[in-house]
Amino acid sequence: MTKITGDQALVKKINRSIILETIRRHAPVSRAKVSALTGLNKATVSNLVQELAAHHLLQEIGPGESSGGRKPQLLLFNGQAGYAVGVELRVNQMTGVLTDLEGNITAEADDSLIEHDVESVTQRMIAMIKELMQLAPPSPYGIIGIGVGVPGMVDGNGTVLFAPNLGWDMVPLQQRLEEELGLPVTIDNEANAGAQGELRFGAGQDARHLLYISAGSGIGSGIIINGELYKGARGYAGESGHMSIEADGKACSCGNRGCWELYASEKSYDDKGDRLPARRTSALIRHAEEGHAETIRHFQELGRYLGIGITNLVNGFNPQSVIIGGPLSDARAWIGDTLKQVVAERTLPYHKELMEIRFAELGSRSTMIGAAYSAISQFLGPVRVSVPAT
Ligand SMILES: [Zn+2]
Repeated sequence: MTKITGDQALVKKINRSIILETIRRHAPVSRAKVSALTGLNKATVSNLVQELAAHHLLQEIGPGESSGGRKPQLLLFNGQAGYAVGVELRVNQMTGVLTDLEGNITAEADDSLIEHDVESVTQRMIAMIKELMQLAPPSPYGIIGIGVGVPGMVDGNGTVLFAPNLGWDMVPLQQRLEEELGLPVTIDNEANAGAQGELRFGAGQDARHLLYISAGSGIGSGIIINGELYKGARGYAGESGHMSIEADGKACSCGNRGCWELYASEKSYDDKGDRLPARRTSALIRHAEEGHAETIRHFQELGRYLGIGITNLVNGFNPQSVIIGGPLSDARAWIGDTLKQVVAERTLPYHKELMEIRFAELGSRSTMIGAAYSAISQFLGPVRVSVPAT
């Protein structure tokens, strides 16, 4: 018997991930088709399919159409082999979902937040996660992990380095949750998690190069290059809310002036005095629906500023698609037109072809589902591979 070297074991893991991802995308699919799609030989596909089926990750659903000879058995990814919990921490609210391994939501929970101290938020988060875990249907693996999206910068160990809107600094959230729950936990920036959610399960499934803009209490972006999240040299890429769009503009808490998020996020409500009838997006949407002129005008102006910042990002990254998510995406009826108009007027002509601007398909759930996906991808194999859609 040959000894498997480290390299062979890695190759096997990579092939296993490629096969699983191919079956997930193309199911129901035969072994021969998987072999043709991946370029792996039939014996390798057969062996790994057998192993994945023995681990409950694949199911055979009976014969498909034959192209001559014996009818092939078709394979499905077993999305109900386990469940994940995804949580999004926002400034005023915490929301959570229980999903299967294909990102389908089985249960949801939410809680409003007034206190932001680390201890009380962590306690409430643990309670919400436990509540969702109890709702999981029986499955071979049970709860496979937990993902959390937070409004701040996160390092590779799941420590929240800096979350100015929560007043958090150096919080080892992953370590704390893993100790309490005894399960693997991943922590991501909320925009990065949202980008993953839309890429895997939402409006970005056919894109390889995509920008996800999360517009809410600030602005963050998730950058997907060639199917993979781009995090930068130390993991802080995507802090686009602090790019300057007004040279001598308003002073920002980051120390700069004229930052994008002062004009194109919920921060733009702050200096409007009595002209706006509310300070929360959900309330302003109700006023806009009733025809409140100043609110509608403000949303249109906010859309214009969103468009200006998106133009800068589009000229820099040349994405196939830009997806706008976060709480402000709920105001798409009023911000969408001015936003698209500004991008159409201002981006370089080469970008206009084949580039589309969409609002998040998963709506306000992109981040939670993306956070759950993070846990799922850890479980299915730490080797990350991306498989082209066609
Ligand atoms: Zn700033």
